[in-house]
Amino acid sequence: MNHTHRSGPLVPEKFLAVLRCPSCRASGLTVESESLACPGCGRTYPFQSGVADLVVDLPLSPPRICEDPHYRRWVSSRFQAHDYFYDQTSLVGRVQRAGHLAVRRMAEELPEGLTLDLGCGTGAHYPYLRNPAQSFGLDIDQPSLERLKALYPDFFVVRGDAYNLPLKDHSVSCIVNVYNLEHMVFLDHALEEMARVLVQGGDVLIALPSEGSLLWEMGRRLFTARRFGIGGLDYRRALAIDHFNCIWQLDKAIKRHFRVVRRQFFPLRLPSFHFNLVVIYHCRHRDQEP
Ligand SMILES: [Zn+2]
Repeated sequence: MNHTHRSGPLVPEKFLAVLRCPSCRASGLTVESESLACPGCGRTYPFQSGVADLVVDLPLSPPRICEDPHYRRWVSSRFQAHDYFYDQTSLVGRVQRAGHLAVRRMAEELPEGLTLDLGCGTGAHYPYLRNPAQSFGLDIDQPSLERLKALYPDFFVVRGDAYNLPLKDHSVSCIVNVYNLEHMVFLDHALEEMARVLVQGGDVLIALPSEGSLLWEMGRRLFTARRFGIGGLDYRRALAIDHFNCIWQLDKAIKRHFRVVRRQFFPLRLPSFHFNLVVIYHCRHRDQEP
């Protein structure tokens, strides 16, 4: 059954309780007809195709390099690329899946609680969520979220800004973040927000490509650059912008904001960025002792 069209979008109470106004930071948002209303500033946030839109005017504008025509072309073809990366029968698809599976296995060892799928996109991690009913998604890309809702209409998702999460302090038990931070231009802002919304003792599970490593570069030359570097698209140039952060930069930044409980490497187990393709982190708040 789909209630979203006739009787107005439903927001389960457990998710409504963690939202806050991204403009004035008040909590206690209420559902009013086709929008969420803030009791603090009176601002309303409309639902667009079943997705609550909690993005305010972006306070951080992307650097000029993001206007690069090759990058723009690459981003506009993201859905075709998505289908290629998630073709489970291919080698590329198996590499892609490794991060999702590792995050799923790590999640199974944690106490159950409210989980945020941060940067959920089109729902690639949804099939790997340990408890979808206790999870919700957030992403800034409305077309991706609409694609997700078509596949998983019962999954509660909001449109939100990773640099200004519309969530209360210490409100979620677990954050899963798969293949996302490598794209974050303002990486420290995103990590700071993740730490803010996480409960004390909560867990963060992050999967990242080993961007910049020898093996990753080799894979790019052999597979993706051949597949996408066609019709005048400079794929390597586009990806140099798309994957804004290399794995060394990501590793340092994660450690600045979180205490790393465990790091896992794929396909080799050796802790080397150069000889792996995917790195998976289990983190907790920086100041917490084991
Ligand atoms: Zn407000």
